[in-house]
Amino acid sequence: MTHPAQPKASHFINGEYVEDTVGTPIPVIYAATGEQIATVHAATPAIVEQALSTAKAAQKAWAKMSGTERGRILRRAADIMRERNHDLSVLETYDTGKPLQETLVADATSGADALEYFGGLAASLTGEHIPLGEDWVYTKREALGLCVGIGAWNYPTQIACWKGAPALACGNAMVFKPSETTPLCALKVAEILIEAGAPAGVFNVVQGMGEVGGALVTDPRVDKVSLTGSVPTGKKVYAAAAEGMKHVTMELGGKSPLIIFDDADLDNAVGGAINGNFYSSGQVCSNGTRVFVQKGIKEKFLARLAERTGNAILGDPMDEATSFGPMVTENQMNIVLGYIEKGKEEGARLICGGKRADMDGYFIEPTVFADVTDDMTIAREEIFGPVMSVLDFDTEEEVVARANDTEFGLSAGVFTKDFTRAHRVIGNLEAGSCFINSYNDAPVEAPFGGVKASGVGRENSKEAIKHFSQVKSVYVRMGDVEAAF
Ligand code: NAD
Repeated sequence: MTHPAQPKASHFINGEYVEDTVGTPIPVIYAATGEQIATVHAATPAIVEQALSTAKAAQKAWAKMSGTERGRILRRAADIMRERNHDLSVLETYDTGKPLQETLVADATSGADALEYFGGLAASLTGEHIPLGEDWVYTKREALGLCVGIGAWNYPTQIACWKGAPALACGNAMVFKPSETTPLCALKVAEILIEAGAPAGVFNVVQGMGEVGGALVTDPRVDKVSLTGSVPTGKKVYAAAAEGMKHVTMELGGKSPLIIFDDADLDNAVGGAINGNFYSSGQVCSNGTRVFVQKGIKEKFLARLAERTGNAILGDPMDEATSFGPMVTENQMNIVLGYIEKGKEEGARLICGGKRADMDGYFIEPTVFADVTDDMTIAREEIFGPVMSVLDFDTEEEVVARANDTEFGLSAGVFTKDFTRAHRVIGNLEAGSCFINSYNDAPVEAPFGGVKASGVGRENSKEAIKHFSQVKSVYVRMGDVEAAF
């Protein structure tokens, strides 16, 4: 019998499901059991062509609709997503292995927030009037045209919506390629947009690996590329986009610092470290994986952290009591286990976890290392799994310098009761998305994105509008044209 997660077909183009079984089969594996639950096929060149030409053709009419009309469709899609939250969350759990306890509150709901927020903004995208004596200039905020979205595997619904909603609000059309690891959820987003009244062709989904992504990025018809992925992929995609002088948004990886001062509320700081390392089993780009703890509270912090980490419930992700799921794939599990071995070899002190859980699926125990030093591999490289590194520090000046000593700059957090210090420290940290006495909140109203190697551009908030639109300036002369001859 066909598994309920199996989609009708691999791709969604021009308002309908499309299949081309000539494309390489991509198995979809449920991470909690290792069972194959679905198959999709990578897009063939014919499918890529169909998606791009359809989107190109649909974009102009979509951009000519009023912002109010476009916004209404996006907001209707948000309502449909919320009504179907349970089913969409189950699918997200099948796609990623993340526990239903999380997917019910963080995936379709976050996607719906983006559709609602950008739907609400669509009608207010205006230019300005610049008086110049009798003449004037007016500006228009226009769509970029045809946008390509490429997703990572950790938040397949959210990423499709965080890219699709602002793109469509601004009057662009999009071809979205989900990660080959989690290809299912974006198809539902495409289906819902059509149901909400979006014209066929304005949001299309094609499947495939890096080659399909590469074919989309290099196509001359494409005006913008928005990627969520790792830094190495980001460098390749950015370079390919630059060849065609295309706009980009790059949401890439991180190794973010979370700084906990002696005066911090201990339980809140521990909670922040848990949210910033173990949510989605650590598969979150903005995670605060370098936890700098001031020496005065170090042992108390570690004791409380170990105690609370012991309360994680590993198990069937479909059981709402489960609070900690598996790694997305066997391969990702092995990568993370490799980092754990490196941590042990390089002399970090294992506080808890440190191995594969003794159960089916790709589960790794939530792992904490203490006495981590700045030069250890686990403190330098993005692990993308449930591995927290705790480092000690003495002074504010020292910790800020060490926190900034990384190629990445996605996020940063500080826990302290001294507000002057909190703002000063955040002001000195090289990161795009920061937190004071909290960690990893990502409301659609707030800009999200990184500095340094962690990325270019911002998602969410009014900032995202700037990255999915461009300004046309029009000089209007009221008098005669003066010319030299
Ligand atoms: P990845 O870089 O391996 O792949 C990302 C996407 O790029 C996939 O869809 C992949 O098929 C595609 N791709 C690969 N090579 C390509 C190429 N040459 N041209 C075009 N597309 C190509 O990343 P991943 O393993 O799927 O995701 C994990 C990474 O994503 C981590 O580094 C994580 O930090 C990052 N991430 C960042 C954010 C953010 O918002 N900053 C969010 C989630 C994940």
